Amino acid sequence: MKYSFKIFSVFGIPVELHITFLVLMLLIYIVAFFKIIPSINLLTAVLITLVFATVVIHELSHSYLAKRYGIRIERIVLLPIGGLSEMEEIPKDPAQELRIALAGPVSNLVIALISYIVLIIFGSFLSIVLSGALYYFIIVNLLLGLFNLLPAFPMDGGRILRAFLAERMSFIKATKLAASIGKQFAIIMAVIGVFFNFLLILIAIFVYIGADAEYKSVVVSTLLGDEMVKDIMTTDVHTLTPEDTVQETLKTMFREKHMGYPVTDDGKLVGIITFDDISKIPENERDMLIKDIMTRELILSDPNEDLVETIGKLNKNRIGRVPVVKNGEIVGIVSKTDITNTLQKKELKLD
Ligand SMILES: [Zn+2]
Repeated sequence: MKYSFKIFSVFGIPVELHITFLVLMLLIYIVAFFKIIPSINLLTAVLITLVFATVVIHELSHSYLAKRYGIRIERIVLLPIGGLSEMEEIPKDPAQELRIALAGPVSNLVIALISYIVLIIFGSFLSIVLSGALYYFIIVNLLLGLFNLLPAFPMDGGRILRAFLAERMSFIKATKLAASIGKQFAIIMAVIGVFFNFLLILIAIFVYIGADAEYKSVVVSTLLGDEMVKDIMTTDVHTLTPEDTVQETLKTMFREKHMGYPVTDDGKLVGIITFDDISKIPENERDMLIKDIMTRELILSDPNEDLVETIGKLNKNRIGRVPVVKNGEIVGIVSKTDITNTLQKKELKLD
């Protein structure tokens, strides 16, 4: 994630703080230190820090189990609305997903229980303020544990629900159902948020977008999991030369209705030019040659590459197409349109 800073690693997993989180914490401490809001004192600030520490423990519990199942964790990022474990892949074994999803909320409930025992044993030795803080800490952890168990996919409870459904139907159908339940929960959360808590609206947006995104990625990896680039690439590749002008290229794009072209020099791929590059050029400068504006650092694919990997390249680099190259020669091109078309055909077969 952009704008986040690593603070330490646990089990080889980097724990990062997002800039918005750092700003929030800084604000809380400034408010507490200068007594800007009477109800927020230094103890409150420390308590909020501790609550975020338990959020890290929550995420680490997910990550620790995921790692034991051989899933790579990129990092844990702390945001003002909670923590995020960036996993490389989603476990497809429902039993594993179930345990990984449960680990987080269970860690909160365990922390709440331990704190409760501490409160019972040592409560009489603590000052009223400290035991009040501990009491608040217990309540927050109980709420965190229970809130995360709501079946609002992709929150933990939603993952547990998906795992439960996936034992009874296909993974894709289970995800579809869990995602649609998740989106309904998100709407309810947002409505409640309007009246009670702004944070809830942010979480609702996260859940809604997340449910959609994860369903789509499951569709892609399930339906296109066996495909290779050569199965769907366009082999009839139209190319341009570096000496073509912007004006000529624009005409070709309108005539052939392609939004991007590989540029070759003597059969050798030297760049790629897209409608985006062209549209930035003012009308009176369209006699410019495309070699001066084309992208030269190319993201390429191989005919035998897994399609899912190529889709990853398209998404990660936010590009619309990749040239497919074999032995230095361009043999095809894969565009987002090719992928969408293939997906649609497969989805039709699915129903
Ligand atoms: Zn969790």
